[in-house]
Amino acid sequence: MNLSGGLMNRRIATVDLEKTSILQTTLTAEMTDFIGGAAVNTLLLEKYSKQMPLVLGTGPLTGGFAPASCLMAASFPSKDKGICHVPVVIKSGPMLKLSGLDFVVFTGKAPRPCVVVISKGNIQVETAYDLAGMSIPATVKRLKARGMKEIVLVTGPDAHSSSRHHSAFTSVFGGFDRCGLAGYMASKNIRAIVINGGGEISFADKDLETDLVLTGQVHNQLPRRRSLAVLGKIMGSDSARKLVKKYFLHSHACFHCPVGCINFLKTPDTKIGTEQVDSRGVFILDHQGFSTLAQNHPKDAHILMKKALAMGVDPLALAEKMDERTRIKQANEPLPPGISIDTYQRFGGALPQIIPQNTKQSFSTWEERVAFSMIVGVCPIPQLIFPAMSPSALMPFISRDKDQAEIFYSRLEKSIQKVLG
Ligand code: SF4
Repeated sequence: MNLSGGLMNRRIATVDLEKTSILQTTLTAEMTDFIGGAAVNTLLLEKYSKQMPLVLGTGPLTGGFAPASCLMAASFPSKDKGICHVPVVIKSGPMLKLSGLDFVVFTGKAPRPCVVVISKGNIQVETAYDLAGMSIPATVKRLKARGMKEIVLVTGPDAHSSSRHHSAFTSVFGGFDRCGLAGYMASKNIRAIVINGGGEISFADKDLETDLVLTGQVHNQLPRRRSLAVLGKIMGSDSARKLVKKYFLHSHACFHCPVGCINFLKTPDTKIGTEQVDSRGVFILDHQGFSTLAQNHPKDAHILMKKALAMGVDPLALAEKMDERTRIKQANEPLPPGISIDTYQRFGGALPQIIPQNTKQSFSTWEERVAFSMIVGVCPIPQLIFPAMSPSALMPFISRDKDQAEIFYSRLEKSIQKVLG
């Protein structure tokens, strides 16, 4: 079975940050056996284990017609958690695929703070001196003015400090890093990673038809108030829901996502140090963190979120620091049955803790669903929420041939085991 037929570019770039040299290679047969995304990232982390690797990877569905095909997995070895795979959404995965690559490995440490820019057939390591001390919104503005399109990962101005509580975000949207990716990027002197795309992604003729059916099913399962599609399923999110109802301006969807779960809430202008952050509001992508934050800060969790997103800090840690009387209940205590704390943290530590309902299907636990999404390259959230979405529902985008589907499932089982350890 050849999964590469249109689904993958079959190309890996290895960027040596110390020498600023780049090597491009093709996927090996073993990598093809492990499908893609987090499973192949794990193989690459093992291969480069002595060279401080950070790996970005896409899956066979990334950038195609499968709903929510926006995902890129950012994987790194954490000292205390083992291998972590952080889901990166918005348009990150498709942009990497459009750049002609499926995987990028960063080895070593850059001699000075840098921005890595990936464009079709070209990777550049540029200086980040002019970004020193800048908030994330100011950094994004500066990089966009330099012609950079998709800022897939960026850290805040103080990520190089020893604090453990920094998060790597996707542009101004926030993200799902509560496991140390920002600190790891800082240890390699990477301030931001930009992907400009530039190429094409092919798809099968019937994919559009299949997508329309699946998207229709997801739309039928959306609640009347779409802004609560995710929050409405999170236990204890009453205060967060009230804030959404009060301050909701509009929602935002990642690449090809029928859900559009990212709420944009109105906020007053905010001051970060001497800098005025003047956007009209804040994007809420980390629903689990926002829900936990609003339990202790029911009136101003959205304002705290805006500050955290501007500074590149975990919003829960920021709230704790600003109000020492408040002991913020961490988003991972206690976890619902079926999600182990180790696995939760290794998938970023910020994904919604929602147990999938269609438990009679294969790969139906929270951990298996997230691992599946992180391997094939789709956002895990629809997999957790919508009964219409499941590994079998996405199978036609991989192959419509029964025998090939069976081979794929056996590889999937092996790949999920690899990711879950
Ligand atoms: S469910 Fe939300 S985070 Fe996931 S792809 Fe859709 S809009 Fe993005």
